[in-house]
Amino acid sequence: MIPLSAPDIIESDIEAVAEVLRSPRLSLGSMAEAFEQAIAKHTGVDHAVAVSSGTAALHLCIRALNIDAGDEVLVPSFTFIAVANCIRYEQATPVFVDIDPFTLNLNPAKLEAAITPRTRAIIVVHTFGVPADMDAIQQIAAKHNLILIEDACEAIGAEYKARPAGSFGHAAVFAFYPNKQITTGEGGMVVTRDAALANRIRALRNQGRYPSDDWFQHTELGYNYRISEINCVLGLRQFQRIDSILQQRERVARAYHQRLANHPHLLLPPTDLSHRRISWFVYLIRLAASFTRHHRDTILRQLTASGIGCGRYFAPIHLQPAYTSWRTPPSLPITEHVADRTIALPFFNRLSESQIQQVCDTLTSLLD
Ligand SMILES: *Cc1c(COP(=O)(O)O)cnc(C)c1O
Repeated sequence: MIPLSAPDIIESDIEAVAEVLRSPRLSLGSMAEAFEQAIAKHTGVDHAVAVSSGTAALHLCIRALNIDAGDEVLVPSFTFIAVANCIRYEQATPVFVDIDPFTLNLNPAKLEAAITPRTRAIIVVHTFGVPADMDAIQQIAAKHNLILIEDACEAIGAEYKARPAGSFGHAAVFAFYPNKQITTGEGGMVVTRDAALANRIRALRNQGRYPSDDWFQHTELGYNYRISEINCVLGLRQFQRIDSILQQRERVARAYHQRLANHPHLLLPPTDLSHRRISWFVYLIRLAASFTRHHRDTILRQLTASGIGCGRYFAPIHLQPAYTSWRTPPSLPITEHVADRTIALPFFNRLSESQIQQVCDTLTSLLD
């Protein structure tokens, strides 16, 4: 069995975790601070706040930026459901915008067309680690005076015009679930240049306690979105190897590309984009337009039966029962067309050349 994804935990990661377990401090300690500083420095911003998940990071951005009932937030539907859920947690409205069929990121022209007097913010996602069109999107946000939140959960280490993903928005978020480029088991991070915003997010993650509050003084309604020292030391260790991790992932992507390029029934992800560095999150191929969703699902079942982990990325948010029962879904033709034809192939740091060959042989035999 070749899994769809696998975390890359090495012996020294385990030793570092064990060392924290032998210490008296398991939460809100020096490991969280060191992890935050490392991510802030990497992103080129002053403030980073480690939290319990990427979803918590997104929710805290929405909350701390006072986005609430009546506000509209522009988001892709071709992404992970947390992006839209965090808006609904605050009774605001996610407005779904269609994507570019090549980069699979928000289409700037459609983004601008979706703006109404109620629009407050944009959440731009660097889907699968491919940087979004930040020049156009920043320009639209500035022109219409909108808050820009960057979801870099799939894109740590990606760059747009030599600037790191996570450095463009008023705030940006990273996530460290086990299938991401680096993991803390569960975890997330908010980064921002805005000191007041960072202070509020720090308080909100810790039951509404500000630095001047004692443990039983809660200045505002907060949450427990803290992350343990155990998780943070793992994240710190993983992050110290980010360059080699990203190189290994790029090796895997190029190995797939080399074997699958020119296949008549397949569309491959972009590998070399001008002004952009991709941070490989998954390797997602797409079946040609002549294939149906039913045909794709059959191939997914056959791959699984052959011992090859695979998945459909993404099931569009606007078509999820949690959303169709809430509002009449909009029509997003590109999102729907793409989502019906995707296949995510096994993708992780240590995937070997022979495993890649096996995946490609099995896949191509199923397409003949
Ligand atoms: C992984 C991910 C998140 C956050 O996920 P958590 O599981 O809550 O850490 C948010 N947005 C996107 C686009 C993601 O891929």
